[in-house]
Amino acid sequence: MDTSIPSELSAVFSLLRSGALIVNPNGLVLEASKPARALGLVLDQRITNTELAALVQQVHEDGKTRKADIRLRMVGQPPRQLSTRVALLNTQHVLALIEDRTKERRVEAIRRDFVANVSHELMTPVGAIKVLAETLTEAATDPDAVRRFAGRLQGESDRLVTLVRQIIELSRLQGDAQLQDPSPVRLDELIAGVFDTNRTDAETRQIQLACEGPTELSVLGDAAQLAVAVNNLVANAIAYSPEGTSVVVSTTDLIDSVELGVSDQGIGIPQADLDRVFERFYRVDPARARSTGGTGLGLSLVKHIAASHGGEVKVRSKEGRGSTFTLVLPKQADTDSEELAG
Ligand code: ADP
Repeated sequence: MDTSIPSELSAVFSLLRSGALIVNPNGLVLEASKPARALGLVLDQRITNTELAALVQQVHEDGKTRKADIRLRMVGQPPRQLSTRVALLNTQHVLALIEDRTKERRVEAIRRDFVANVSHELMTPVGAIKVLAETLTEAATDPDAVRRFAGRLQGESDRLVTLVRQIIELSRLQGDAQLQDPSPVRLDELIAGVFDTNRTDAETRQIQLACEGPTELSVLGDAAQLAVAVNNLVANAIAYSPEGTSVVVSTTDLIDSVELGVSDQGIGIPQADLDRVFERFYRVDPARARSTGGTGLGLSLVKHIAASHGGEVKVRSKEGRGSTFTLVLPKQADTDSEELAG
């Protein structure tokens, strides 16, 4: 019996963008699409993954179509999540369709984690507010205690407000990747505004705020969002620095973009945590972040704002020496800058 594959089918296979295999009753792979090979599913005409090979074998035996989610281990890479469907093509051949669902599964997992984290993070200040309110009632006859508890109550509600505002802002930013109405934003005005917001905190900690580099620069963007991003960087620089140090905001004019760096002489970030500080709710030292009123959402907001502006945020840091966070933002078009000047 002729078990060869019609040439038309081979041509179709060469065009396929998803994983597909045609396997004969002896387990020999007669056709494999490029993505299937790229996943390392075929070696010497054999299916390398035992789970998939068994599935194909079962379909050959009873002719029943099967589906399975398979975890594929790949050397030197994180495991991949494959969604497979295997069916009889004709009496001699089984067709296996393989889709790489790794990305979707990761997004789903991140979303699940986010909801769980949000609930947990919201419960902390809510729980504290409840306890403080009860204590306040009990201390009604002691004015000093009332003042103390009321102050703490205010602190916890501020934290709750910040958290809710950041969560809303974050989900809004993730919803629409593109900026609605970008307009020219002057960096000198942006930085001056951020310094004003942070001046009291900086003075309390005797931290000097300084600016370096050309500031008569503009980027095309959303002024309010950019202010949130730079504000988060400067507020962090102050919060994670010892008294008597400086925080410097520097600007660099590049050909197509502008760099805005925020440098501190603070505690720095361990190398192992550098990649993770932009994740939602990630805090190097949760206890310390709590005392600074941190939510763990500030840097992930910065990352999303940079992305929605077509830019990025980078970090360099040395423990005990300090950190520099750099926002890279595409510049506004030249024609716009002439309009601005005029
Ligand atoms: P938080 O609200 O906790 O500051 P962020 O998302 O802004 O959350 O930052 C995440 C974590 O990154 C912080 O908890 C802190 O551990 C670390 N971090 C951020 N900025 C700095 C900095 N300038 N110096 C040292 N550590 C920092």
